[in-house]
Amino acid sequence: MRYLPLTPDSRSYSFTEAVRLNLAANGSLFVPESIPSLNKDFIKSIRGASLHEIGMEMLQPFITPDLSSTQLSQCIKSAWNFDAPLIELGDGLFCLELFHGPSAAFKDFGVRFMAEIFKALYTEEVTILTATSGDTGGAVASAFLGIPGVNVVILYPEDKISRVQELQIASLGENVVALKVKGNFDDCQKIVKTLFQEGGLKSQKRLVSANSINIARLIPQICYYGRALAQLPQKFSSGSFSVPSGNFGNCTSALIAQQMGLPLDQICAVTNVNNVIPRYFDSGIFEAVPFKETLSNAMDISFPNNFPRMESLYGNSFNDLKHAVKTASFSDEETVAAMNELQNRFSYAACPHTALGYKGTALFHSDTARIFLSTAHPLKFPETISHISVNVPSHPALDALHSRQIQSISVKNSADAVRDYL
Ligand SMILES: *Cc1c(COP(=O)(O)O)cnc(C)c1O
Repeated sequence: MRYLPLTPDSRSYSFTEAVRLNLAANGSLFVPESIPSLNKDFIKSIRGASLHEIGMEMLQPFITPDLSSTQLSQCIKSAWNFDAPLIELGDGLFCLELFHGPSAAFKDFGVRFMAEIFKALYTEEVTILTATSGDTGGAVASAFLGIPGVNVVILYPEDKISRVQELQIASLGENVVALKVKGNFDDCQKIVKTLFQEGGLKSQKRLVSANSINIARLIPQICYYGRALAQLPQKFSSGSFSVPSGNFGNCTSALIAQQMGLPLDQICAVTNVNNVIPRYFDSGIFEAVPFKETLSNAMDISFPNNFPRMESLYGNSFNDLKHAVKTASFSDEETVAAMNELQNRFSYAACPHTALGYKGTALFHSDTARIFLSTAHPLKFPETISHISVNVPSHPALDALHSRQIQSISVKNSADAVRDYL
């Protein structure tokens, strides 16, 4: 597979180059040159297939010739030493739990695969520089911890993330440095963007982004849609997916899986009140405004980075894209009401992001399997779920955090301060 920048720059790139560069020299995101079609027999016989089997089939076309199939197999095995169980809650209603990895959020799927790619493909020393609104940081810190030749610098907004999230980012030490910025997530993202645009610094430090602008994070996420279908009861031959969305990386992966031929029936992207895309679909006017803080903080985003990739999957046709993806947005009050409803009707404890996913399932027709993605474990957000009385199952990686100490470095809200640090 070759990769192209969304704004063409007269050449194509290998997977290795696209991952290493994050963005093309013209600042554009990389996308696969074409979307491969899955083998029909694979789709027919997907029931019961493991994540590893699905990964081998779905990822092969995207990483050939850069990784051999033995290397791919090794990457999948080391990255995904946990599963994505599909839980049936009610008649035709399912939750796909994507939080069984070490950071207890779905980002482990993309970030851990990316870390394996670095082990397999790169020998030079690199610096992973990443801004986080909460969950990316934890996934990046644990995935790249202790990898020789990889320095990790994570920027997070002071007092804007949960204590569990902060412990995940800032308590590991070794090659992982946490910088606590006096500002919000947009400020952190702006600093990272500024530093990536400084050619000298970028090449001297060999900066790499682990945000979902990096194609290595996006591609592996197509696999858990297959794993969900593999676990559906016999009576369903397809499923509809409701995806809690912020930067729309997860939703983009769903659309790629669908275009490859997986039977994803309907797809719904759900946002909190930071709803630039749902508003765009309603009004035709794209208006990015500063974000508001919500209970689903990993989705507090003003401009969804992956949206241009979604548009490109539909030849930049507004109508085709609107036809392919349903959208909805809900307030914090509706989020809490949905968390309570999940508890009262199904005895299921969900994090606020997941509760938004549940809300999206109401948009699907009822003769399809209605699946919402659980993007994080509820105990990542104990502040929000404290009023929920149901017994919340523990998560081993979260239990282990409480004996650790936060050790972050405070920096001013400026690119200069972070550059000095680097
Ligand atoms: C990152 C995140 C999201 C949003 O995912 P995108 O791919 O950015 O749309 C949703 N829920 C949780 C818990 C997250 O960490």
